[in-house]
Amino acid sequence: MNAGPWLPVPPNGYGGIENVIATLVPELRRLGVEVVLATVAESTLAVDEQLSVFGTGQFGLLQRPYNQVCGIVPAHLHAVRRRLAEGDIDLVHDHVEAAGLATLAALGPDSPPGLHTLHWDLAKHPELYGTFDGGDRVRVNGVSANQLTHAPAALRAHAVGHVHLATPLADGADLRAPVAKEDYAVVLGRINPGKGQDLAARLAHSAGFDLVLAGPVGPYHRPEDLAAAGPAAAQNPDVRFWQEQVAPHVDGDRVRWVGTVTGQDRDDLVARARVALFPLRWEEPGGTAVVESLALGTPVIGIARGCLPELIEHGRTGLLTSDEEELGELVAAAGTIAEAACREEAARRFTPAVMASQYLGLYERVRDGAAVG
Ligand code: UDP
Repeated sequence: MNAGPWLPVPPNGYGGIENVIATLVPELRRLGVEVVLATVAESTLAVDEQLSVFGTGQFGLLQRPYNQVCGIVPAHLHAVRRRLAEGDIDLVHDHVEAAGLATLAALGPDSPPGLHTLHWDLAKHPELYGTFDGGDRVRVNGVSANQLTHAPAALRAHAVGHVHLATPLADGADLRAPVAKEDYAVVLGRINPGKGQDLAARLAHSAGFDLVLAGPVGPYHRPEDLAAAGPAAAQNPDVRFWQEQVAPHVDGDRVRWVGTVTGQDRDDLVARARVALFPLRWEEPGGTAVVESLALGTPVIGIARGCLPELIEHGRTGLLTSDEEELGELVAAAGTIAEAACREEAARRFTPAVMASQYLGLYERVRDGAAVG
């Protein structure tokens, strides 16, 4: 079956939101929540019930003490309504970008209350949410407090709080033996102007540190695939960004691009790095790669914007600055950050269990009709 633009849960490769679902659902079920997942048929995540949506679909969930949750895209409104009409679902937790929010609002007065999780950078995508009128049954949450400050007022009025992203790598992170560090910095993430790989690459040369860039350039996951792509590839804005802003600094020595890394390779690359660099040029909404870096014992050096100041304690788990030029100096100063402090912080704040219990708290508030405004 064609999965359309939607990915299975868990995703086969890159898939940020799908990974959040795959991290959250097992913990919710451990807490006794029954979860109905509305998703593409290819999804393999263990749930209490899978509501497969044809062609294009996404997820949502729900549960006890309520009973279950679902998520949706407009094309599936009918199927989801039919399922909700069975009357045993207490809450719909929706993770579908923007369209999901509209869908929740359109479900009608008899449907259970809905919680929509914001995953986007709202400063960059105000059009996605600008016209929201969620009525009085739909609430929203951010993946950071900073993200909500960029939301349009109507949306902010429906916010019930934020829940930071989690990583399974945080489980037992404080108990793992330290990994021998090597002398390089890593930037882990999509090659994209907002993630700032151009700045990282330039600073690597001017401040004198080795840099590894890991992540896809548009649809290209391996350097050889990008090299083999024709000129039409440059229609993709991330490919253009790579070609014009980043590649000129990539010499294969001081600065290397290794493409997308996954699984143990990704974990080893990050764990061995002396620092994880986040030279942000956008309001990074959630920063999965940030909490992964902490869990792997790698101090975070970055621009103090987006979610970074909430996730990183300056001077203890990383170093932050608002000054792009100062970033290179901070890479040199990262030796003052204890690897153990990073791992302890991840184990305390960013485990899947912590995330699930925080979501349960939000579900309760939404179910009890948290006030709007
Ligand atoms: N990622 C990966 N391999 C790469 C680059 C990124 O597995 O080469 C993963 C990264 O570990 C993280 C996710 O992709 O889990 C990116 O999520 P994040 O919230 O950091 O950024 P987003 O892409 O959602 O803006």
